[in-house]
Amino acid sequence: MSKSKTITVTQLYPDQMNIYGDNGNAQILCYRLRQYGYKPVLQAYNSSADHEKLIHSDLVVGGGGQDSGQRAILSDLQLIKTDLLSMAADKVPMLMICGLYQLFGHYFQTKDGDKLDGIGLFDMVTIGGNKRLIGNATIESDDFGVLVGYENHSGVTTLGDNQAALGQVVMGYGNDGTGVSEGARRYCVMGTYLHGPVLSKNPVLADWLIQRSLEHRYGITKLRPVDNQSAKRLTELDKLIAQARLAAEHRQQ
Ligand code: GLN
Repeated sequence: MSKSKTITVTQLYPDQMNIYGDNGNAQILCYRLRQYGYKPVLQAYNSSADHEKLIHSDLVVGGGGQDSGQRAILSDLQLIKTDLLSMAADKVPMLMICGLYQLFGHYFQTKDGDKLDGIGLFDMVTIGGNKRLIGNATIESDDFGVLVGYENHSGVTTLGDNQAALGQVVMGYGNDGTGVSEGARRYCVMGTYLHGPVLSKNPVLADWLIQRSLEHRYGITKLRPVDNQSAKRLTELDKLIAQARLAAEHRQQ
């Protein structure tokens, strides 16, 4: 392992697509990369003027945003659609939260009826509803175990029949408000409604993304273990909050 090995992390549209501290996911990836002995380079993708930066990225992250933020980035996102799709097929790892997760599907239709075209990486569509789906959420997946976070969206996402979810909802609303599936996965791209920032509470996801980026760039398949205690404490806290909420709901029934 060498300090000179760099991993370039690109944050998509950090000004418009960053709610509930989603930009923190990029910071966490950089922090953990340093812990593992690599040199992270954090860069922002703001517009197609940054195209060269994007196509040389080792890891790409994007956050949530209001409908207005999604509208603001829409035409530029279409300009980089082909690059994002070919990078994804080439197994560049990516993490998309909420607003950008929705735009990695076919489209997001706002509750006013505006259809915002996505890039169609995930086979899914999202329709804005009148109810906001808000609260702490816990999901479970075969690869990552229990994941925790906070969701706040009005979009109701329907996955295509063969589209893999990130996990199954244990507590919360998930993709379509019915508490069944949450998020989506394709190649090394993960999409989810979980804020937090999600990587602060779920280091297993951060390490999976880092591992994929090291494999892709350097063919390195192993990470040495690092201390996850503070993230574990956060996760435990969320589980306690989730349990307390469930208990309160039972009492009300
Ligand atoms: N505007 C979208 C929705 O409400 C995304 C919100 C978000 O990114 N938190 O569904």
